[in-house]
Amino acid sequence: MSKVVIITGGGRGIGAATAQLLAGQGYAVGVNYLKNQEAAQSVVSAIRAAGGRAVAVQADVSNEAEVDALFEKTQQALGQVTHLVNNAGILFTQSTLAEISTERFQKVLTTNVMSAFLCAKAFIHQCQGPGAIVNVSSGAAKSGSPFEYVDYAASKGAMDTMTKGLSLELAGQGIRVNGVRPGFIHTDMHADGGEPGRVERLAPQIPLKRGGTPKEVAQAIVWLLSDEASYVTGSFIDLAGGR
Ligand code: NAP
Repeated sequence: MSKVVIITGGGRGIGAATAQLLAGQGYAVGVNYLKNQEAAQSVVSAIRAAGGRAVAVQADVSNEAEVDALFEKTQQALGQVTHLVNNAGILFTQSTLAEISTERFQKVLTTNVMSAFLCAKAFIHQCQGPGAIVNVSSGAAKSGSPFEYVDYAASKGAMDTMTKGLSLELAGQGIRVNGVRPGFIHTDMHADGGEPGRVERLAPQIPLKRGGTPKEVAQAIVWLLSDEASYVTGSFIDLAGGR
């Protein structure tokens, strides 16, 4: 059976690197984006230029109707979805918990956790198995991200718990569910936190003494989705240079 993957937030950063690698492995790729159509379209164009199959689909993955439409459109364009990467995520300006507004906390939870829940539900409706899901969590789930973004860290902790529970629910039907926990990866996300140079600042404190690349995270995601990881479910790979 042909492999069809949806990557949420697949137009930039870790999602874009994952889209490229999976296309190279023969997956047809649904590249979801929220606002940056140009970035998503350029990922799709690169995949098509290399002979692969891909489609860019706009959807806010924190919205149930838009998630359902994302799965419907991807199925129509590429075939039944067999794999899912819950990658879309946001964070806001570095601050203490006391400075975080209720609205911000809700927005972060809705975008980072509710999206994974909604996409997993839509996936289960379309894929009876075999198949695989990878949830892109964060090292923040373990560190708690004090003085930076406890809201974001809490959302990733919830994602890890959901990964574990869902992996056990779906194991019997041959759908594996795993997580990756990146940290200090060179993407646009740190600018959203108000510090574009955050990775460079923290590099001396990282055991491997440098930040990671989106491709280094993507390689772990690709492996977890692949048949090479056929006995792996409910597991997590930390990709944070030893932190
Ligand atoms: P990024 O470069 O900022 O990309 C984020 C992506 O998420 C963008 O493609 C964006 O779409 C998409 N997105 C945001 N909200 C969305 C929504 N509501 N619906 C659909 N798409 C949405 O970030 P990144 O660093 O690659 O992060 C990817 C994942 O890795 C996130 O879950 C993040 O928490 C996690 N992570 C990153 C790091 C790191 O150091 N970079 C560390 C730990 C974990 P548009 O392109 O349309 O804006």
